[in-house]
Amino acid sequence: MLDYIVVGLGLSGLAISEELEKRNKSFVVFDDHSQNSSYVAGGIFNPVVLKRFTLAWNADSQLKIAMPFYRELEEKLQQKFINTWNIYRRFHSVEEQNEWFVATDKPGLSGFLDPELKKNTNKNLNVSYSFGMVKQTGNIDTEDLLHNYTAYLEKKDRFRSERFDYSELVNRDGFVEYQDLKASYIIFCEGFGLRNNPYFNFLPLRGNKGEYITIYSEELELDFAIKSSVFIMPLGNHLYKVGATYDHQDKTPEITAQAREKLVRQLKDVINCEFEVVDQVAGIRPAVADRRPLVGPHPEITNMFCCNGFGSRGVLIAPSMAPQLLDFIEKDKELDKEIDLRRFTKKHYKPA
Ligand SMILES: Cc1cc2nc3c(=O)[nH]c(=O)nc-3n(C[C@H](O)[C@H](O)[C@H](O)COP(=O)(O)OP(=O)(O)OC[C@H]3O[C@@H](n4cnc5c(N)ncnc54)[C@H](O)[C@@H]3O)c2cc1C
Repeated sequence: MLDYIVVGLGLSGLAISEELEKRNKSFVVFDDHSQNSSYVAGGIFNPVVLKRFTLAWNADSQLKIAMPFYRELEEKLQQKFINTWNIYRRFHSVEEQNEWFVATDKPGLSGFLDPELKKNTNKNLNVSYSFGMVKQTGNIDTEDLLHNYTAYLEKKDRFRSERFDYSELVNRDGFVEYQDLKASYIIFCEGFGLRNNPYFNFLPLRGNKGEYITIYSEELELDFAIKSSVFIMPLGNHLYKVGATYDHQDKTPEITAQAREKLVRQLKDVINCEFEVVDQVAGIRPAVADRRPLVGPHPEITNMFCCNGFGSRGVLIAPSMAPQLLDFIEKDKELDKEIDLRRFTKKHYKPA
């Protein structure tokens, strides 16, 4: 008998798997590649909300857990996944520059916001005001990380590249059965795929489609990221990721011409040199109305759990959620109320 079955190997399933391994638990992970939010993500870790110059929810403590988590994965898989660069926030008015100065003095933010404004020295950028620089930021190459991690689990015979069929799951007294497997617990980490899960689809998970384009430009020569109406992130070799869009209506997985045109238009507002669009990707962010994760137990079935709802910040949030959920299951430690999915059970869940 296994300790755990995990459904989904995006950032959530990866963080859960890592935590299970640390605790010497036996487990098998299923993934059918039906969602690809974690694969197409920019992978940016940035604790600051750049619209308002405030700290994102719990970002400081999440960063302290996330960075050692990804560094350990680099060691374990013998591969580099972390890229560090600063974000330059383009100001659109003197008022914004002043707001930046006020924010740099605020407790919690001063370690991330550089009080010295940066003048533009790149002739390919359209900039009327200075930039504000955010420190301790960068990105995780999530696609590479997930490919490598999947191979790692495969070698350990802990990965099944197939769809998890909910109709074949049987809940027994104190354990679950699925095809040839028996496990004490099951954790669902399906991202937006959760809406197909009959056990947890009562949760108010809203998809939010995001698209990125990748451009090639020899002239641009940026070694930092720019946040303006659009985010421009350096990938190396004259490639840049530009995005992402936010769309609450469209829940289809395909890339769209509208998103590409919008991103190109926004990009031309920031840069004035030649570029070529060389790639485009799309994914659905697992977003929740109250912008907090959905972590915790099924309202009736005691050995069934969910770890989801990371919205647009999975890179920073996932490594903090997995230990909390496993402490809850294994050590009976209460979940932080803000993340506990039971905040929705009374309103939405109707027992059969
Ligand atoms: C365009 C875009 C840009 C983004 N940029 C960033 C960023 O820069 N920084 C950041 O922190 N976040 C970013 N995000 C958000 C981030 O991607 C998500 O928060 C995170 O990836 C969610 O991870 P997850 O594991 O919960 O879900 P997912 O990544 O969706 O993973 C769920 C997994 O479950 C599998 N699955 C589902 N159903 C089944 C089933 N029945 N059987 C088997 N497998 C199943 C799917 O195949 C998938 O692999 C971005 C998202 C998008 C779309």
